[in-house]
Amino acid sequence: MIKTTNIKVTPAQTSKLSQVDWEKLPFGRVFSDHMLVMEYTDGEWQEAEIKEFGDLPMHPAESAIHYGQSIFEGLKANKTAEGDILLFRPEMNARRFAESSKRMCMPVIPEEMFVECVRKLVEIDSNWINSEPGFSLYIRPFMYAIDPYVGIRPSDSYRFVIFTCPVGAYYSEPVNVKIEEFYTRAAAGGVGRAKVAGNYGSSMFPAKIGQELGFHQLLWTDAKTHTFIEESGTMNIMLMIDGVLITPSEESDTILRGITKRSVIELAESWGIPVEERKVSIAELITAIKDGSLTEVFGAGTAATIAPIAKIGYRDEILEMPPVEGREFSNRVVETMNNIKSGKEPDVFGWTLKV
Ligand SMILES: *Cc1c(COP(=O)(O)O)cnc(C)c1O
Repeated sequence: MIKTTNIKVTPAQTSKLSQVDWEKLPFGRVFSDHMLVMEYTDGEWQEAEIKEFGDLPMHPAESAIHYGQSIFEGLKANKTAEGDILLFRPEMNARRFAESSKRMCMPVIPEEMFVECVRKLVEIDSNWINSEPGFSLYIRPFMYAIDPYVGIRPSDSYRFVIFTCPVGAYYSEPVNVKIEEFYTRAAAGGVGRAKVAGNYGSSMFPAKIGQELGFHQLLWTDAKTHTFIEESGTMNIMLMIDGVLITPSEESDTILRGITKRSVIELAESWGIPVEERKVSIAELITAIKDGSLTEVFGAGTAATIAPIAKIGYRDEILEMPPVEGREFSNRVVETMNNIKSGKEPDVFGWTLKV
């Protein structure tokens, strides 16, 4: 267990917990009582403070708004039936956050400090975690440049913030995706691997075009040739073809290194299912759909865990995926991951961190 250091706590005067309607809990619109704020000035991280959730100050010339030094993470905490609070692989988020920071010329937060900030905040708002099945606490750490300066150069000062949102079962209704062959999410040498705010802003327009055609998400392809599939929205893509779990290799720096995907791979390996991380062409995908060798296809990400894909749009065709009920592997993954996260099953992988 890490020591609690340098985190000042100023409790909120009142709690908004009693106002929460647990039956109708929209994702990302309800916020817990506290947030953590820590600033980087004079070349070092200053004392972190946990205080009442509320607005943050903003100078009109705030660097992040103009020049985009802004990164984030997303992870979840669950409460077990016994009342323990478990974080799911927070050290992986800490590491990815550090990698995003480096790519964006932002100061790195030592991984232990990142995890301790998350842990302490979650501990303070632990009564916001509902232990009923399906509920969890979504945790959003982020950092942005705060120099009040009009000029393109890395900012000297930054603000690191964490807030949390109670969330219900992110209904994993099957999603329809469209293979995108014109617009690009990330190009080699760019920032696709980093969780950088701008990646999401730039994907909204192509995603909107897809939505107008009836698709929830796009399935991005490589920027150079548009012939290899990469990932979808905020989820990595995974396929089961001929009993092999296949996912696009993250060696290319255009794919986000998802923690859910990594966990699915580790589960599959522990179950003796062969896994291949490699390039996957559109042609291979289409062939596997048409000849019936593709039995499962899903997105993997923290918000939904596993989002089964029902239909794939490719040019003028809409291809139907196999029925969700029969997807043995996906269903087993969902059940096992939920059990591990909620402490119903022993965490043989050492994925959870008790708060
Ligand atoms: C966050 C994210 C994912 C999923 O990562 P997890 O760590 O599993 O939540 C996948 N792709 C993109 C683009 C993302 O932003």
